[in-house]
Amino acid sequence: MNILVINCGSSSLKYQLINMNNEDVLASGLVERIGIEGSVLTQKVEGRDKYIVETPMENHNVAIKLVLDALIDEKNGVIKSMDEIKAVGHRIVHGGEKYTKSAIVTEEVINDIREASKLAPLHNPAHIMGIEACQKLMPSVPMVVVFDTAFHQTMPEKAFMYGLPYELYEKHHIRKYGFHGTSHKYVSAKVAEVMGKDIKDLKIVTCHLGNGSSVSAVKDGKCYDTSMGFTPLEGLVMGTRCGNIDPTVVTFLINELNYTASEVDTLMNKQSGVYGISGVSSDFRDIEAAAKEGNKRAQLALDMFRYRVSQYIGSYAASMGGIDVVVFTAGVGENSASERETICENLGFMGIELDKEKNKVRGEIAEISTANSKVKVFIIPTNEELMIAKDTLALIK
Ligand code: ADP
Repeated sequence: MNILVINCGSSSLKYQLINMNNEDVLASGLVERIGIEGSVLTQKVEGRDKYIVETPMENHNVAIKLVLDALIDEKNGVIKSMDEIKAVGHRIVHGGEKYTKSAIVTEEVINDIREASKLAPLHNPAHIMGIEACQKLMPSVPMVVVFDTAFHQTMPEKAFMYGLPYELYEKHHIRKYGFHGTSHKYVSAKVAEVMGKDIKDLKIVTCHLGNGSSVSAVKDGKCYDTSMGFTPLEGLVMGTRCGNIDPTVVTFLINELNYTASEVDTLMNKQSGVYGISGVSSDFRDIEAAAKEGNKRAQLALDMFRYRVSQYIGSYAASMGGIDVVVFTAGVGENSASERETICENLGFMGIELDKEKNKVRGEIAEISTANSKVKVFIIPTNEELMIAKDTLALIK
């Protein structure tokens, strides 16, 4: 039984076709430059050369049609007809306060996603385009939406409220939402499974460290707190996002340095973080290489990133009254031994002890703490697509 998972952005689209009988990825692909010159679809199937289709794609309807064509292509495809797609699962960034779990797509659900566009203006409108394009091309196939925010809806009020006038929350829903929820949910459940424990008996800190990064506190199997906020800008120092700063910096930039609101937005989201500090790159591989060669600003960027991650882990120990296990995931978390090592070194006072040999591993499930470590440390590769496919299957059943 195959589920198509779609993650639709404004000009790009990622997809995976997953056989849920054995959780095998039959095909995965990326469509880039939708609506702009140079549109291209790249499909990967294990054991085969990449299948690349370069053709104009004026909108998401055309892009989705090409995805379906690629999947059923006689030579390069993996299924014979569209009938072999049982359902489609869509990743949705923002579900507002209403969605605490995934949902079957109905008109009401689409309207709710549209309503939440105020909170995610770059993402939600693109997701709706993806859903509507699929509905047009596969009218009888059920669709499910899986929200990045849903897992975090269990946070207690004291964790998700900002110290602003209460009316702003009541009238405009200004609060912490949190993102990467599908990943935090997946890796926290997986680590409990790997440890052979009931997730309800564990206090877990999950560190999703990629280009965008967030840390979550998971207690009793539920999210208790998370570092991203009203938008994905809050929290850690990220690839190009600044994370926590004094909000007065924003008014200073506008009032004293004549920035417009949208320039500040771009500055904080796209020109800051380890990229803005190092002046080298937003890619941790480049920054680590530059720091090794003695680039001081690259070293500073890494120090800041590691310091902030350690601070969040420490603060979540205070939030939950202790930690049993720390999980590293996503691009940096799964691959960078040096980031994991330094972050854990900072936390030695809590009884975290990393096994340097075991820490050499990359991109696979591994326990990397020593036998004596009071807090266990694991690498758990994230798999948001599989999580979306599982939710989709559960709902259509
Ligand atoms: P996103 O999904 O947020 O775009 P990913 O989770 O794919 O990001 O992570 C991308 C990041 O992972 C990049 O900054 C990249 O440098 C980093 N990364 C990948 N491999 C390594 C590695 N071997 N060492 C350090 N960083 C790595």
